[in-house]
Amino acid sequence: MRFHVMTLFPDMIANGLGTSITGRAIDNHIFELNIVNIRDYTQDKHKHVDDYPYGGGAGMVMQPGPVYECYKDIIKDMDKKPRVIYMTPQGKVFSQSIAEELAKEEELVFLCGHYEGIDERVLEEIVTDELSIGDYVLTGGELPAMVMIDSISRLIPGVLNNGDSAEYESFQDGLLEYPQYTRPVTFLDKKVPDVLLSGHHGNIAKWRREKSLERTLLRRPELLETAELSKDDQKMLEKIRKKLDFS
Ligand code: SAM
Repeated sequence: MRFHVMTLFPDMIANGLGTSITGRAIDNHIFELNIVNIRDYTQDKHKHVDDYPYGGGAGMVMQPGPVYECYKDIIKDMDKKPRVIYMTPQGKVFSQSIAEELAKEEELVFLCGHYEGIDERVLEEIVTDELSIGDYVLTGGELPAMVMIDSISRLIPGVLNNGDSAEYESFQDGLLEYPQYTRPVTFLDKKVPDVLLSGHHGNIAKWRREKSLERTLLRRPELLETAELSKDDQKMLEKIRKKLDFS
């Protein structure tokens, strides 16, 4: 998998993703990160990439030319057009299922806006997907691109040390994850649940499933409407509802 990031602030991406788990995966060539500075594609002798908005109003708008030239350079050796994802608060909200879908691609291009955004004409020309990380406005698309690349890349085999880790996490099957504990057994007079110390794998799995259902019911009940629930899950959920006096 190769991620291409079109940005005016390449250091932000390099520093953010070059650290910790993603940094190690890049060093080990498990995925590639190609960070491209849009400013390198301007014809302007002062290296300007933005200008005033037609029609007036506050702020500056990124010009279409440098973005387009940057895109053409990125795709010049590709056999087919890649998905080009524009980071925008106006896009569909990113989710685990979108991460899973995007993790199947071989090449992904992320386009980071800044200032008031990017001239609409180049977006119409090159963008295939518009994604947001939530209903709030940031100063630029770099943090959203890093959020998405981080969550997509950890689904690539080999990025996480333990291949199982990504499988049992929140949202992976539409539910929130069960609570986690590690040593010591007792902390501030609170003991790790006995079942987790029992070594009985069947009981541990059942307890975790129950906690996962309970957490989802308490914290994000709307997820239960689309989660993949077996008959046993549904029975368990019924019991939890009764126990918690949930109607
Ligand atoms: N004027 C734009 C609007 O109202 O939709 C907002 C521009 S914002 C200040 C600058 C850039 O930050 C955007 O072009 C986009 O790339 C990025 N951005 C801001 N908030 C975002 C969000 N919630 N999700 C994804 N990208 C975001």
